[in-house]
Amino acid sequence: MKFHILTIFPEMFKGFLNESILKKAQGKGVIEIKLHDIRKYSKDKHKKVDDTPYGGGAGMVFTPQPLFDCIEHVKSKAKARGDIPVIYLTPGGKRLTQTQVERFAKKYDQLILLCGHYEGIDQRVIDSLVDVELSIGDYVLSGGEVPAMVVVDAVSRLVPGAIGKEESHQEESFSKKLGRKKEYPHYTKPAEFRGMEVPEVLLGGNHAEIERWRRKHLR
Ligand code: SAM
Repeated sequence: MKFHILTIFPEMFKGFLNESILKKAQGKGVIEIKLHDIRKYSKDKHKKVDDTPYGGGAGMVFTPQPLFDCIEHVKSKAKARGDIPVIYLTPGGKRLTQTQVERFAKKYDQLILLCGHYEGIDQRVIDSLVDVELSIGDYVLSGGEVPAMVVVDAVSRLVPGAIGKEESHQEESFSKKLGRKKEYPHYTKPAEFRGMEVPEVLLGGNHAEIERWRRKHLR
């Protein structure tokens, strides 16, 4: 899976991409992440990417030119198996769910993630080039970079080979296997800690009973 992240702040991704599972998955060649600096595509002599909104009001809006050029360039260079959806991260979009994450991981081998800033982006970019408008929740962040990281992280862990044991994401909160419910509680050693005990059933080796207990404790 290859992620193209379109942003005016590529530096924001440095730490995030170079730690933990994403670092390992990139090392193994299971995922690839390409950062595209939108500003580089601006034809303005000062590399401006935003302007005041028509109709007035506070804040700035991304102008269409750098975004059109950037998206068209990325699409023309990408050697994808099929379509590459352009996903615009926006609070006004459809709320991201595990089902949608699974769909992305299964259906595509490349994704374009467009990070907005300020008031957002010119509507003509959305009308002409955006396939999916996606929100990570009903609150407003200052930019689309954190939402893009959320999508990269959630989708990457479903790409075969990204995480150690394939099974570990099959039995997780919101997975099909758990009926889209929230996972059962986990316990580890010691069996007793500050007077709090691990449920008896988990200490024995009766797998059928453990399975029953876990099903009962899905939320
Ligand atoms: N004016 C916009 C509104 O009222 O919906 C908010 C713009 S927000 C300050 C700037 C950028 O952050 C957006 O263009 C989007 O890319 C990103 N963003 C903010 N909150 C988000 C969320 N909950 N989900 C996805 N993207 C978000």
